[in-house]
Amino acid sequence: MLVVMQSNATEEQVRAVCDRIEALGFRAHAIPGAARTAIGITGNSAEADIGSLESMPGVVECIPVSKAYKLVSRDVKEENTVVRMPTPSGEVTFGGNAVAIVGGPCAIESREQAFTIAERIRGAGVHLFRGGAYKPRTSPYAFQGLGEEGLKILAAVRDKFGLGIVTEAIDNESLDLVEKYADVIQIGARNMQNFSLLKRAGRARKPVLLKRGMSATLDEFLMAAEYIVSEGNYDVILCERGVRTFSDFTRNTLDLSIIPAVQRRSHLPIVVDPSHGTGRRNKVLPLSRAAVAAGADGILVEVHHDPDRALSDGPQSILPDEFDRLVREVREIAAVLGRTLN
Ligand code: PEP
Ligand code: MN
Repeated sequence: MLVVMQSNATEEQVRAVCDRIEALGFRAHAIPGAARTAIGITGNSAEADIGSLESMPGVVECIPVSKAYKLVSRDVKEENTVVRMPTPSGEVTFGGNAVAIVGGPCAIESREQAFTIAERIRGAGVHLFRGGAYKPRTSPYAFQGLGEEGLKILAAVRDKFGLGIVTEAIDNESLDLVEKYADVIQIGARNMQNFSLLKRAGRARKPVLLKRGMSATLDEFLMAAEYIVSEGNYDVILCERGVRTFSDFTRNTLDLSIIPAVQRRSHLPIVVDPSHGTGRRNKVLPLSRAAVAAGADGILVEVHHDPDRALSDGPQSILPDEFDRLVREVREIAAVLGRTLN
């Protein structure tokens, strides 16, 4: 259910409607728009007493929202959500006119490794650094990440290079720590339907980058985002990272067609990870260009100075020189579309 307020409704009127919704036992989500505020109702709102809400001062109408996802839907909020995050080297936005780039290794392996790569990421003019301290690996014998030690290295990267930090939480325990150290909490493909983790991320005070599960449909992807937003965290960035198909020349098949499909249905920003999306270094640059051409709000890419010796995902990590070229070319493609780079 959605309550549409008049364009000149006062803050008190919006608050009174929210209070009434909460008193009825539902949750109210006031969503300010350019022209008017809408109030989303979650909980089993089919039974909400529409009559009593519709007659309140400042209310235009109550609209039933039939889609399973509501708060992430464009029906509820027409304008794009712009997720803003301050970094020591300036504000980065996802979903506005500027395209954001995030670069860094798959995993944080050591202080030297992280610093060597971070210097090149910053040198390329990029403001966000990625790197996993907790790695969800297919094999229990593979490198699992440095844990909190890795988060401390990431915090040092922020201090030394002025980079904002994007890093993954794999369970509620690691999320507590990631929230403390990072600027963006990544939820990985394997956890896209870990509902208790999504709810915990929804209570976090940091933006969440939610990766699409490797066999998730568009609806499942948006429902996963709805879990986060319904807990009160509206700063969600969707990330396409490839799905599993019969195609055998790449690790996954990067589904760029989901970009316009998401943009039609949802106001949330969407970025693309061409590294996991292809699994092959030589395909990262062309698909980064394609992602931006298709309308992506950002690119998340794995970069390593010595990929042959990387502890995870070496074959899909590009070299720092290739990253410089990627930033240059993505900037030019963004410009064709009237967009800039963050
Ligand atoms: C990663 O970003 O390193 C990662 C594990 O990604 P995904 O969850 O998309 O596999
Ligand atoms: Mn990886």
